[in-house]
Amino acid sequence: MKIQRGIKKAHELGFDPVKNNMVVKRGMNDNEIEDFADLTAHTPLHLRFISYMPVGLQKKWSVEKYISAGEIKKRFNPLYPAEKITGNGPAMYFKIKNAKGTIGFIDCIGDEFCMMCNRLRLTADGKLRSCLFKEQEVDIKTALRSGCSDEELENIFRRAITAKPKIHPIDFKDLRTWERTMSGIGG
Ligand code: SF4
Repeated sequence: MKIQRGIKKAHELGFDPVKNNMVVKRGMNDNEIEDFADLTAHTPLHLRFISYMPVGLQKKWSVEKYISAGEIKKRFNPLYPAEKITGNGPAMYFKIKNAKGTIGFIDCIGDEFCMMCNRLRLTADGKLRSCLFKEQEVDIKTALRSGCSDEELENIFRRAITAKPKIHPIDFKDLRTWERTMSGIGG
């Protein structure tokens, strides 16, 4: 299997841990959920199932293609029962018994785990973005290029962190797509 060879090669090259994110879309790749879960049992792969989110320029997001973390787990758990383990966030982590790898879930819109979200993103144009779904960003590039002090830098990070929402702003009745690509947002 190509992906197993890829994981082996990555380890040989010194990458550890090897992580893989799978954005699950109903009707597109959800038939591979069980195979990917099985992969973590036999290979040291740290897999994260990411529920489809309304981000991007293509405006193709639809709730019909969204699959919650709970449904993904129900799909593989009868075949590969997994126990919850501790991780370093923001995903929720599980492990199949005696597995070499782990399984994480990121379901921003279904799980409402914003209180656990510890991510700040650095956008391609030099802004700190506190949430995927919040347009508000804090300019860090200008400050750095003008030789700001450590204290000013700390204040910029504080402003970005305090702007993190306690709960995401997505309303299923009023769906819209956040119009920045993931590469522009910072992954
Ligand atoms: S704060 Fe934003 S990026 Fe973090 S989990 Fe909530 S919706 Fe997702």
